[in-house]
Amino acid sequence: MNHKVDLKNLTLPALEQFLRGQGKERFRALQVFKWIYQQDARTFEEMTNISKELRAELAETAYISNLEAEAVEVGGDGTRKYLFNLGDGHAVESVLIPIEGRNTVCISSQVGCAMACEFCLTGTFKLTRNLTTAEIVNQIMAVRHDVRESGEEIRNIVMMGMGEPLHNLDNVIPAIQIMIDGNGLQLSNRRVTVSTCGLVPEMERLGREIPNVNLAVSLNATTDELRNRIMPINRRYPIKALLQACREFPLPGRRKVTFEYVMIGGINDSLDDAKRLLRLISDIPNKVNLIPFNEHKGCGFKAPTQAAIDAFHTFLIDRHVTVITRDSRGGDISAACGQLKGKLEKGKSDLVTV
Ligand code: SF4
Repeated sequence: MNHKVDLKNLTLPALEQFLRGQGKERFRALQVFKWIYQQDARTFEEMTNISKELRAELAETAYISNLEAEAVEVGGDGTRKYLFNLGDGHAVESVLIPIEGRNTVCISSQVGCAMACEFCLTGTFKLTRNLTTAEIVNQIMAVRHDVRESGEEIRNIVMMGMGEPLHNLDNVIPAIQIMIDGNGLQLSNRRVTVSTCGLVPEMERLGREIPNVNLAVSLNATTDELRNRIMPINRRYPIKALLQACREFPLPGRRKVTFEYVMIGGINDSLDDAKRLLRLISDIPNKVNLIPFNEHKGCGFKAPTQAAIDAFHTFLIDRHVTVITRDSRGGDISAACGQLKGKLEKGKSDLVTV
């Protein structure tokens, strides 16, 4: 058992406290923090502006973790899907989506997920465990390492991979604090998006503790009857309560709540659904992401027809809603959440091992 402290679990104030506990000056924490996040230092040896004695002391009580990709799947459109082995027999995935030179990384927050949404492959794995703050941050750092090799940077982070981020807020909040720290990963909070299936009290906590992050809500149904069926969380926090939490969420100026809507053939893809959706969200600054359902084994749902997608999309656009219908980006590499892990468990033959 490793009793040393993983420094990547600590925000800058927490690192200051940790080092103060060892009788060290406050500025030491800033030095170490910058080495870790800006210089990507993986050992204390690399921290050359810190005395040899302190480096040796740190190595006695702490370590700096990393994630190495076990497999990377590269899509024809440049999308890269990473599978990270967590070292305890579990794995999570992250996806790099290069959109017009703006690299967006979609990261995971849990191994599996407890929310059991009926259309989602991750949901079928159930929740195994929460990711630590370090494991969340390390997904970004591992992808950044790759991206920097081609002289680029990461612009956006979306927490839409495996797991429900708001079900792991105790680790997600420090991870976001590290992402947006000017001495840490130096991302603007406007460039971080947290996606939720609708944990209402946790939405309020997130907004209170980290105002100005972007919020995405996985809505997927326009009646409680259907949402109760395909997203069990709705039985606890029905649509009305969820939308009220959206209205109260402290968004960055002039930003919009993104409503994710997985279109499932014959279930939620009619024009009546589109009309109800418009009514529900019209008094919230909004944009809509339509995500055509990707058929997968073990789930009886069907993909929507192209005609249904087009009609839904056009109905909303004609009423001045900003709508993006997710293209097949990542479709050829199974970017819908959880699907890479599903594949990996069936066999690694179609993955590029790195
Ligand atoms: S859609 Fe999201 S919240 Fe629902 S089961 Fe999948 S990972 Fe969990």
